[in-house]
Amino acid sequence: MIDDDRHLDGNAIGGLLQVLFGREMTHELGCCGNCGAVNPLGATVVYVDAPGSVIRCPACGSVLLVAVALPTGVRVSIESLRWIDLAEIGA
Ligand SMILES: [Zn+2]
Repeated sequence: MIDDDRHLDGNAIGGLLQVLFGREMTHELGCCGNCGAVNPLGATVVYVDAPGSVIRCPACGSVLLVAVALPTGVRVSIESLRWIDLAEIGA
């Protein structure tokens, strides 16, 4: 478990997730590719004082997603996010 006071919860990157997915995402479920924990994205652990925003699994601390600001926009790296559920969307 992550135990320091530099992090925020996943709601801190709600705006970024909304840009990426075109919808409110903090209540959607995501699965950690490292430990298999399933949590709402709003319950992830977010570090915004790293170079960019780093979103970590609340169970094991693995990096799920990194977003870095570039002069031309934002670069998003999906690291250890096995899947995300998008409720109420047909495949
Ligand atoms: Zn995990």
